[in-house]
Amino acid sequence: MADKNFRVLISQRRLEARIGQLGREISRDYRGRKPVLVGVLRGAFVFLADLLRNITVPAEVDFISVGSYGDAKVSSGVVRLLQDLNTNIRGRHVILVEDIVDTGVTLSYLTHNLRTRRPRSLEICTLLDKHEKRKVHVPLKYVGFRIPDKFVVGYGLDYAQQHRNIPYISWVRED
Ligand code: 5GP
Repeated sequence: MADKNFRVLISQRRLEARIGQLGREISRDYRGRKPVLVGVLRGAFVFLADLLRNITVPAEVDFISVGSYGDAKVSSGVVRLLQDLNTNIRGRHVILVEDIVDTGVTLSYLTHNLRTRRPRSLEICTLLDKHEKRKVHVPLKYVGFRIPDKFVVGYGLDYAQQHRNIPYISWVRED
């Protein structure tokens, strides 16, 4: 799918190759364990689905939903829990799967929240790292791509709930 308003930043082919590598890395690091992949809704669901199919250890999946952006491109800076996990993660190896890290505020909130539940380990896997605007340091164990400070959509990421179905990572042409 190509649309004149959407520029390709990361193609389907590059996504597939990198997610394959991440899956192999996670499978190696978690050999002999049963991690719980926690997807951050809604943006991470496409990435999580592809990542999971590249993981060869027995992994469980759950989702958590937080809100901060509303329908704007600029974060309100306020994070709130919209939907909690169903899984009890106490004593479990948890991998938090996020679509994109920008200021780090969302992941900082989530990691603090999840740590109070005493998981055995907690690591972060993000597809995209928009590092230029980081306000809060969050240790990212697995990163798909570092990208410049542009607002991106596609591959699960939205603008005003649209464009999640674009199969690649794209930025919107402003002209
Ligand atoms: P942070 O709290 O790190 O500033 O922002 C993280 C959240 O903001 C992500 O989970 C995502 O929902 C949203 N976000 C940040 N940058 C972008 C972007 O370029 N495109 C989209 N669609 N969402 C973004």
